[in-house]
Amino acid sequence: MVDPRYRTAFRLYPYERVPDQDASAPRRHKVVIVGGGPIGMALALDLGRRDVPVLILDDHDGVGQGSRAICFAKRTLEICDRLGCGDPMVGKGVFWNLGRVFEGEEEIYAFNLLPEDGHRRPAFINLQQPYFEKFIVEEIRRQQAAGKPIEIRGCNRVTALRQHRDHVSLDIETPDGPYRAEANWLIATDGANSSVRGMLGLGFEGRTFEDNFLIADIRMNANFPTERRFWFDPPFNPGQTALMHKQPDDVWRLDFQLGWDIDRSAELDEGRVRARVRGMLGDAIDFDLVWTSIYT
Ligand SMILES: Cc1cc2nc3c(=O)[nH]c(=O)nc-3n(C[C@H](O)[C@H](O)[C@H](O)COP(=O)(O)OP(=O)(O)OC[C@H]3O[C@@H](n4cnc5c(N)ncnc54)[C@H](O)[C@@H]3O)c2cc1C
Repeated sequence: MVDPRYRTAFRLYPYERVPDQDASAPRRHKVVIVGGGPIGMALALDLGRRDVPVLILDDHDGVGQGSRAICFAKRTLEICDRLGCGDPMVGKGVFWNLGRVFEGEEEIYAFNLLPEDGHRRPAFINLQQPYFEKFIVEEIRRQQAAGKPIEIRGCNRVTALRQHRDHVSLDIETPDGPYRAEANWLIATDGANSSVRGMLGLGFEGRTFEDNFLIADIRMNANFPTERRFWFDPPFNPGQTALMHKQPDDVWRLDFQLGWDIDRSAELDEGRVRARVRGMLGDAIDFDLVWTSIYT
């Protein structure tokens, strides 16, 4: 069994049994990428386009829910152009160049990240992360159809690995039970809580920024401008910050700084989230909650 750790937004690579699972000896792959998030998929696409055979193992059958990383910069879009998936990103994304900063209710600063004409891509687009990942996978599918050597295996969780002189051997769990494979090169793109780093006994040195942010994706029809709006000490979240971004599909991303010492489940209570959103928008605007989370 491979237990899901999160709910999927798009089921893009359902589990399929593969001959490796019935092989008498583990099959050797040139490159195995563990983790099919945006980083793993983009890397697989890049390698595959260069005719480097690559196998992606991901422990889910699609991309996770929630806007998460919504702001994609011009440089990222240029890389997506090189990988062949820039157009759908820009076609779906909400453009913005202008940001406004408020203290309380007073605007104290505004900036334009792309004040000159003639650039192919905007300074930023806002796009929910599931779309970003979906467009990369769709380009992988096109490249596969054109014969590029990229394989995605969903619901394949790497549970153990051993390093040898010239290869790595992997234990992989699937809905049909475990199997083994080998790789000349293994690349870990399995996220911030990387289990591969854990298997290798590697730490993740760094510093935790001691704060929490409530993220609320809401759906509403509103005429707020397509700008990044950031508040210090707004009346609706005193002593903290807040952020508002427009996303595709009439979904808006609201971030509320909460502070470090919070009761997470109380903060995620729907009534409490709605009250915070009401405080920001006022009573006149109707909205639906699409997704909420707390980001540390
Ligand atoms: C609640 C939340 C809010 C966020 N908000 C923002 C934001 O506002 N702005 C921003 O820039 N970023 C945000 N992020 C961070 C952003 O989502 C990540 O930076 C991004 O997803 C990292 O991409 P990745 O490809 O490195 O890893 P991930 O997207 O984490 O992908 C890793 C993949 O590896 C798979 N995996 C893990 N272990 C194994 C294993 N053993 N075997 C096989 N597969 C495995 C996972 O299922 C997953 O599909 C947020 C993240 C969360 C969770």
